[in-house]
Amino acid sequence: METKLWNIDQGKEIYQEAAELLRSGETVAFPTETVYGLGADATNPDAVKQIYEAKGRPSDNPLIVHIADAKQMQEFIAEVPEKAEKLMEAFWPGPLTLILPIKPGVLAESVTAGLKTVGVRMPVHPVGLELLRITNRPIAAPSANRSGRPSPTTARHVEEDLSGRISAIIDGGSTGVGLESTVLDVTSDTPVILRPGGVSTEQIEEVIGEVRSARNIPKKEEVPKAPGMKYTHYAPLAPVYLVEGGAAFWDKQIKRGLDRGEKVGLLLSDELAAEIREPVMKIKIGSRAQMDEIARRLYDGLRLFDHTDTTLILAETFSKDGIGDAVMNRLEKAAGNKYLNETSELPR
Ligand code: AMP
Ligand code: MG
Repeated sequence: METKLWNIDQGKEIYQEAAELLRSGETVAFPTETVYGLGADATNPDAVKQIYEAKGRPSDNPLIVHIADAKQMQEFIAEVPEKAEKLMEAFWPGPLTLILPIKPGVLAESVTAGLKTVGVRMPVHPVGLELLRITNRPIAAPSANRSGRPSPTTARHVEEDLSGRISAIIDGGSTGVGLESTVLDVTSDTPVILRPGGVSTEQIEEVIGEVRSARNIPKKEEVPKAPGMKYTHYAPLAPVYLVEGGAAFWDKQIKRGLDRGEKVGLLLSDELAAEIREPVMKIKIGSRAQMDEIARRLYDGLRLFDHTDTTLILAETFSKDGIGDAVMNRLEKAAGNKYLNETSELPR
């Protein structure tokens, strides 16, 4: 299939054309403030199937439904709890996904992977929001990347992964937040963060009080989980290790890698890059003092390694405060939780 590439500078007509594609059951990638999404009509099973096929996404990993107006939820959501109302008021449009109970029979079953709940969100990006408004259907949209790869923060990233596999891409420049939405399950009295993201735990707790993190809940307790979180995610082609330690420890790990014959590449802050002596490739993603910028540049940094001959990636670890929680969640997944520190150095 030939993938159309539109740029928002081409004018308003592209929204009509893209909406027409979506309404006729095709797939369109578009920018949101978090990452680029791959959209399809959430009420059309054949359309949704194309998302799973294009991405190579496991069928038990449900999709987030995107809307432009909270009124659209009446069609497919059974009930909106009071805490959810408050959060919508505070953070919509924005990078917060709420897990809510569905009305049966409206959304394609594949959207929810057979669950009785669905994730819903209203993006704040002007391009994504305008497309949703004009399409006027609930749009299922996971990140527009091949499953397992770092999410796309530019139209170029989408092309790298999905060109020839989807109907169209709307290029609206780089995304703002750079990481996915926070997924919050609001179907229990104390809501549960299933995935950290663009809205921090601290921000959510300011509005509705205490929430729990899926990480802290003992396995035996019956709580709904985010099925997708069990898969490897966000990974470049070369293996990633997370490094805990100062510049001297880094230099030692780099030497070990080089001694093994690896092409070592580093993903790190401006501050740490200035301290590392070993002459290896350094991909800098911003200042530690600006975690928003680190979040925004993280996926592009991870993807850059795929255009090099790097065989081993060493990545910096960051504080988990605020958006740092989401940054570290993605880094841990990209690394498959492999850490290098005093107790587990790189094997010689
Ligand atoms: P992605 O579309 O790749 O950004 O991932 C969406 C995330 O939302 C995945 O981690 C899903 O498992 C999670 N999710 C979507 N719908 C549900 C649901 N009904 N219940 C729990 N988690 C969900
Ligand atoms: Mg994704």
